[in-house]
Amino acid sequence: MVAPRQLFEDFLALFYPRLCLACGQHPPTGDDLTCTVCQYQLPQTNFHLERENGFTEHFWGRLPLQAGAARYYFTKKSKTQQLIHQLKYGGQARVGLQVGRQYGRELRDAPHFRGIDLIVPVPLHPRKQKMRGYNQSDSFARGLSESLQRPWQAHALQRVSPSPSQTQKTRIERFENVRRAFRVPRPANLRGKHLLLVDDVLTTGATLEACALQILAIPGTTVSMATIAMAQQS
Ligand SMILES: [Zn+2]
Repeated sequence: MVAPRQLFEDFLALFYPRLCLACGQHPPTGDDLTCTVCQYQLPQTNFHLERENGFTEHFWGRLPLQAGAARYYFTKKSKTQQLIHQLKYGGQARVGLQVGRQYGRELRDAPHFRGIDLIVPVPLHPRKQKMRGYNQSDSFARGLSESLQRPWQAHALQRVSPSPSQTQKTRIERFENVRRAFRVPRPANLRGKHLLLVDDVLTTGATLEACALQILAIPGTTVSMATIAMAQQS
């Protein structure tokens, strides 16, 4: 017996064939969202295999990090950029879910990522989330949560001020704005825990740093980080 929803999706697929979300050219394989070519070509970092890596070095001298990794490298006009674009602006929250599930299976076997108590996504400002309809980091957190079999919590962190306009501000002013943008509404719930902080892309690290510093101000906490991609200066 085929579920009516599946029948409906098969019917739609006759007229609107599903295409790979990274290249938009070939049909995806099986339940995946990308085609075989893109699965092979998406540039994996393999950072999770090393304790110190290109991700963790972003935070040297800024904060103590238990473990840190991004699944893919991100460069302009790359397949990774296309995939992230679909996740953030194309309504494709399932990209986060799928990459989260896959990456969670890899992180499960990485020794430095052991002992995580709770997965915490970087929040969007409520106004921004309302406009987008979802937080792209939530779906990544959910996918990781399924594979790592650890809980995730959408509101452990709160964004209290919107992203500052990037124009007409100095680097230091921008950083100060980001630093004050987050708060932990119920610190007692996080006390003594090892948190996996997750976001879509690591660029300068200012956002993840601001979130981590709020968490690390709570006694007994440890922070690790995971993102879908990491910007690579090309
Ligand atoms: Zn493709």
